[in-house]
Amino acid sequence: MKTIGLIGGMSWESTLFYYRHINEAVRKRLGGLHSAKLLLYSVDFDPIERLQHAGNWDATAKIISGAARSLQAGGADFFLICTNTMHRVAETVAQSVDIPLLHIADGTAAVLKSEQISRIGLLGTSFTMEQAFYKDRLTRQHGIEVVVPDSVDREVVHHIIYQELCLGEVKPASRDRYLHIVDKLVRQGAEGVILGCTEIGMLIEQSDTPVRLFDTTAIHANEAVKFAFDA
Ligand code: GLU
Repeated sequence: MKTIGLIGGMSWESTLFYYRHINEAVRKRLGGLHSAKLLLYSVDFDPIERLQHAGNWDATAKIISGAARSLQAGGADFFLICTNTMHRVAETVAQSVDIPLLHIADGTAAVLKSEQISRIGLLGTSFTMEQAFYKDRLTRQHGIEVVVPDSVDREVVHHIIYQELCLGEVKPASRDRYLHIVDKLVRQGAEGVILGCTEIGMLIEQSDTPVRLFDTTAIHANEAVKFAFDA
């Protein structure tokens, strides 16, 4: 079993899911008291969130690259950035170390392709829904067309992520708003919806809707365990 490196804390609410999910998957594979060999570098999210909203991605890349180097020095064999949004700086971070980065969009694309989905809805922060780094990777590298909500709905989705979910608040009214937006994406031709923010699984889950949901947190954590054993 390889040692997994996690860059978490963005937010720590979702990092909890990674930790639990990875350990549960290792126990499922090996049984008994087996658990994951794992290093977690958990950042202080507040300054990073400010830099994101100021558009200072270079500064965020420096922080995340420093975390990646710490994981490498600590003995991680590979690492994950436990947020979709911070894949905005994935290339720079990956170049700052010698150990491989498991990109969250690649694992998600693999699952979509295995289900023959070619047109997918995307929910996430405005950065993830609007900028090229995530959508283009799905489209150019994996041939999957991406549909996003209109600007008003994107603002709603973004606001609920930062003002509620990242603070651990899960509100039924916000769940209804998300499910309404999911339905609209399907009306735009989406064959399913990516929960492209690692906190969205706190708010909506598969049992809430007949629309096929792809939770990037669970997918990414599964990929980590597969890589730890099989790669
Ligand atoms: N965890 C979220 C994501 O997956 C948002 C927090 C962040 O900006 O990193 O995008």
